[in-house]
Amino acid sequence: MVAVLGGGAAGFFAAIACAEANPAAQVLLLEKTGKVLSKVRVSGGGRCNVTHACDTAARLVAHYPRGSKQLKAAFQQFGVADTVAWFARRGVALKTEADGRMFPVTDSSETIARALEDAARRAGVRVVLHTSADAIEPLPTGGFRLQLGGSGAAGFGPTLAVARLLVATGGHPKTASYDWLRALGHGIAEPVPSLFTFNVPDSPLRALPGVSVAQARVVLAGEKLSYEGPLLVTHWGVSGPAVLKLSAWGARRLSELGYTGTALVNWIPTFTEETLRPWLQQFRQENGRKTVAAHPQFGLPQRLWRTLAEQAGIGPETRWSEAPAKAQNRLLELLLRTPLAVRGKTTHKDEFVTCGGVPLDEVDLTTMQSRRVPGLYFAGEVLDVDGITGGFNFQAAWTTGFLAGRALAAAPVVAPAGAQP
Ligand SMILES: Cc1cc2nc3c(=O)[nH]c(=O)nc-3n(C[C@H](O)[C@H](O)[C@H](O)COP(=O)(O)OP(=O)(O)OC[C@H]3O[C@@H](n4cnc5c(N)ncnc54)[C@H](O)[C@@H]3O)c2cc1C
Repeated sequence: MVAVLGGGAAGFFAAIACAEANPAAQVLLLEKTGKVLSKVRVSGGGRCNVTHACDTAARLVAHYPRGSKQLKAAFQQFGVADTVAWFARRGVALKTEADGRMFPVTDSSETIARALEDAARRAGVRVVLHTSADAIEPLPTGGFRLQLGGSGAAGFGPTLAVARLLVATGGHPKTASYDWLRALGHGIAEPVPSLFTFNVPDSPLRALPGVSVAQARVVLAGEKLSYEGPLLVTHWGVSGPAVLKLSAWGARRLSELGYTGTALVNWIPTFTEETLRPWLQQFRQENGRKTVAAHPQFGLPQRLWRTLAEQAGIGPETRWSEAPAKAQNRLLELLLRTPLAVRGKTTHKDEFVTCGGVPLDEVDLTTMQSRRVPGLYFAGEVLDVDGITGGFNFQAAWTTGFLAGRALAAAPVVAPAGAQP
């Protein structure tokens, strides 16, 4: 018997791959809660951002703050095109949005969850809810004895012997949650959150919730962290892809800093000080009679421009010809480097992940088998892998789940005493 722990994206993909490749494998999927695929269902704002249109493994890996180098070979074996084909074979068509994110054409995550549940049922995967594995004991004869918990465990008794085991239990914010894997001899990269937004409680921008710019650059002052993308002002701070990318690539550093620091926003990243200064001078000469605050430039939203002008000390009726040089300098500074005092984080509602988990160098990434414990496999967010927002986290779950499932199906059976093969 093959046991899969965790009924999320990775666990389902692995269980299906294993059962389809080896119908004799007897795949048992244990889920500790009363519901499988919970994150798939809430993902992407209920639409499930399944993957991201990236045509090569090299392009794909560029989106993983953790796991980038190591995942390349895995993505070459099962990449975005394989994900698209996998769902297409099961009647689920995906569409690509302008920014590359891929969703089911139905725009409903339920389509994805049902496809996975149907495929598991057809392949003969047995799903048992309310059942967790709380400890794993490798048996001297091969295989594992699982210490079971939860009401569903009643059907098995307190322990269950299995020949091969896949852990796909997702990410957890506390190191202690991984103690049962550490007890097997695995190290754990300290878990910290990734993909969060910044709280900026004292910024005048907080008066502008809903204001967004299509392309901004956010830099963490004093750090080598700088990312570009759409930026959204929220009622608690700043969000949007530029901030989320910074939070993902800077997840560990920001955790060390206690989520405090200064974020500098360049609202017009195509400009530098050298190009913006002459631009403003010329604009002033040609438009001296225009009121500064009333005429936003660079395609910036009116409310944002007015606030920046106000912060620069330019009154609502002041014309360009009347604006003191000091105020104009200050406006230039704010356009290129609006300082935001970051005081804490807020979890991004559409997608958040934990970085950290089982280190990738402890896993053979062609099979997902543990290098420490033969017969033990890992897939999904339990690994120290995470991507930026855009469908990359599910792609990692599909890829690692598929490779683990295929390897589980092919692995020689070492049946522990009392276990079914
Ligand atoms: C709100 C939200 C939206 C998201 N949207 C997207 C998106 O659109 N696109 C994208 O790419 N990513 C998205 N993500 C990230 C993505 O959901 C995760 O990266 C992905 O679900 C990880 O899959 P997984 O199977 O590894 O873990 P999970 O989905 O977390 O599944 C793990 C499962 O294991 C179970 N479990 C835990 N411990 C045990 C145990 N001891 N025994 C038995 N079962 C156990 C859990 O109950 C859970 O069901 C989103 C995340 C969130 C929170």
